[in-house]
Amino acid sequence: MRNSRVGRAAVNTATHHQSHGQYPSFGGGGTAPSGLRSKVPQRSGAEVSGSWIEQFADAPDVLKEQPEQKTIVCAGEVIIGGGEFVTMAGPCSVETERQLMETAEHVALAGARVLRGGAFKPRSSPYAFQGLGVEGLRLLARARAATGLAIVTEVMAADDAPLVAEYADILQIGSRNMENFALLEAAAQTGRPILLKRGMVATLADLLRSAQCIVSYGNPNVILCERGIRTFETATRNTFDISAIVVLNEICRLPVIADPSHAAGRRPLVPGLARAAVAAGADGMIVEVHPHPEQAWSDGEQSLTFAEFDDMMEDLAPWCELRALRSRAAEPVG
Ligand code: PEP
Ligand code: MN
Repeated sequence: MRNSRVGRAAVNTATHHQSHGQYPSFGGGGTAPSGLRSKVPQRSGAEVSGSWIEQFADAPDVLKEQPEQKTIVCAGEVIIGGGEFVTMAGPCSVETERQLMETAEHVALAGARVLRGGAFKPRSSPYAFQGLGVEGLRLLARARAATGLAIVTEVMAADDAPLVAEYADILQIGSRNMENFALLEAAAQTGRPILLKRGMVATLADLLRSAQCIVSYGNPNVILCERGIRTFETATRNTFDISAIVVLNEICRLPVIADPSHAAGRRPLVPGLARAAVAAGADGMIVEVHPHPEQAWSDGEQSLTFAEFDDMMEDLAPWCELRALRSRAAEPVG
């Protein structure tokens, strides 16, 4: 990892955090009060946990030097991290021309700016549908031509990166590949913006280390995605880590989007998680939509119908407006 100027600045912040009071430690700092029950000398939290920001010292080039610092990522005409809440929507997998075109036209009319759809699919089972491959990429390009939507699609193998980059405006690195460094390098070198999904058992420090790798390979256009993590909870497919959005916005300059579909795993939960993402300050979301979710070749249980997508977008509109008002108010004047 490069030891850049930014890196030293970040580490300095960590070293002096107590005097600046900018980044509190988990333990709360301070001296433990005397007269406690335990006979063991009590240490303050600051000594035990150390600095919070030190956890992220491996990712110096993506940490903020100032609170307002933000990387703006452009994908075609779409700006991510520029204040607008950007919706990326579409099926889990590209299945047929009709399925993709209908979905693209519908989500574009309802306000989405980017079409999602997997042509190369990472599946939990090797027996499950693995995607249409190049034919899926061709269909995505056709949908872009018809609707003007930008395209985000997953790349799974380093050798495929140049091919996928010919068709996609944003390359998605899936959860299962967050730490596949050869893939990160190949994807970074295409020059396309990268949507980096958090691994399902990855800490935020792990996520930022992978983001740092992409930046170190010469590609600063990284969008982070919170898509839920594995916990003991089984009522949802994953646990949506809302604090990840808040933490990342606090410390990291990269745009952060949410994936309420893979977090929830169930259609009725998706709009509520999307609303929480807007409120937490996400720069956008990526959400699964299908003309007939019950017939979907992958992730049907969590894919919204067109009507459900429309309702969600309508429900989110006032929250997005409020968010835009707040971010305009926070802009430095003059
Ligand atoms: C997807 O976006 O379809 C996907 C497989 O997501 P994840 O990598 O987050 O599981
Ligand atoms: Mn999916």
